Amino acid sequence: MTLDAVIGDLERGDVLIEGGKIAEVAPRIEVAGCERIDAAGMIVSPGFVDTHRHVWQTQLRTVATDWSLFDYFVRMRCIYSALYNPGDVYLGNYVGALEALNAGITTIIDHCHILNSPEHSDEAVHGLRDAGIRGVFCYGLFGNPTLPEFLPEEDASWRVPDLRRLAAQQFASEDALLRIGLAPNEAEGSTFELIRDEIRLGREIGAHRISLHVAMGRYDRGRRIVGSLAGEGLLDEDLLFVHGSALDDEELERLADSGAGISATPETELQMGMGHPVAARALARSVRTSLGIDIVSNYSGDMFAQMRLMLQAQRGLENEQLDAPPRSIRLKAREVLELATLGGATVAGLDAIVGSITPGKQADLVLTRTDSINMVPATDPVGALVLNANPHDVDTVLVAGRVVKRGGKLVDVDWPIAAEALAASARRIREGFKAAPLERFEQLAAQVML
Ligand SMILES: [Zn+2]
Repeated sequence: MTLDAVIGDLERGDVLIEGGKIAEVAPRIEVAGCERIDAAGMIVSPGFVDTHRHVWQTQLRTVATDWSLFDYFVRMRCIYSALYNPGDVYLGNYVGALEALNAGITTIIDHCHILNSPEHSDEAVHGLRDAGIRGVFCYGLFGNPTLPEFLPEEDASWRVPDLRRLAAQQFASEDALLRIGLAPNEAEGSTFELIRDEIRLGREIGAHRISLHVAMGRYDRGRRIVGSLAGEGLLDEDLLFVHGSALDDEELERLADSGAGISATPETELQMGMGHPVAARALARSVRTSLGIDIVSNYSGDMFAQMRLMLQAQRGLENEQLDAPPRSIRLKAREVLELATLGGATVAGLDAIVGSITPGKQADLVLTRTDSINMVPATDPVGALVLNANPHDVDTVLVAGRVVKRGGKLVDVDWPIAAEALAASARRIREGFKAAPLERFEQLAAQVML
């Protein structure tokens, strides 16, 4: 499944990779003297693109099981975030990126709001880099509370120089897998002027993407950030708006005109009172649309689950609005697969190099087995990928032609050691949580959110 509009799907196909790039795609390619990967019986597809994840939260898996957005703000953003040291950030990002690769996600946009010191910034980047994932590291300007008293950060003036330092030290090469981006302060909790200035700062430092949480359904406070940015002529394709369930039709039109993108994160939006995922509505208005996983402190970190949730939640909504039983189903599984691959690449500003199996693009590929008990018989490969597959079916993953997963196992990863380190980090952080002033933050959150 190439996701390339011209090449289409091949019943049987070969992909030739040279120098990390796709050189040729054809039913059969005869070539001598190269390594062969046998993909017989597998679905070969482009790597998935996750356009919104806070990768640092990996060791907090399951803490958010029954949380609303209110709980998330109080516990995650005000307390857990303060408890991370640079080593915790490294582990969260390293294992989180491995989890993504293991599930066939080869490109990720990391909205990284755990930068409590310059050491945190460096370790966050090192974690992603050591895992070998492609993506955009969006430097978070949000100041978390500080230890030991969980008080507001006294002096945030180090952050912009640190952003410039990091951009110069770690992102000087254009060819590297990772690019620098920016995650401004929370748009709906800040003044418009601050967000405007931070967007300008992002453009000045060459941020590849600028990631903003906006229009969060029932938590939306009528700020119309997108409308205001449009009014100031600031919308452009480097802006990535996350959630956006409460965006009005006019804002969606402005987004379509500007080329700015949307990342819908269906599982978060459905659980946390953020409204119905905007993806189908945005897609229908020709907005560049994609899917994100958001937080593995709650959900599994694979795209299969998000595709399925988005598709079926939308079908449920549309069927519910009918007066009679549906004669047919409007939204097709292939459209959702496109959101999770080429759509994501377009929103990430990387569609010239990834998102489809197209000669000239980077060889970011996923080989999914079809012989598991949940896949046989994979008669329709689209249905198999969107509605049946899970990360265990992902056999082989390549990033820029490099095999990062082979035969169902991550390459060059000592998982028992990493798992033990992650569990130790989680224990220390969760122990620290017990001494936190939960009630103080609940009162604060009630004032700003409810
Ligand atoms: Zn988010």
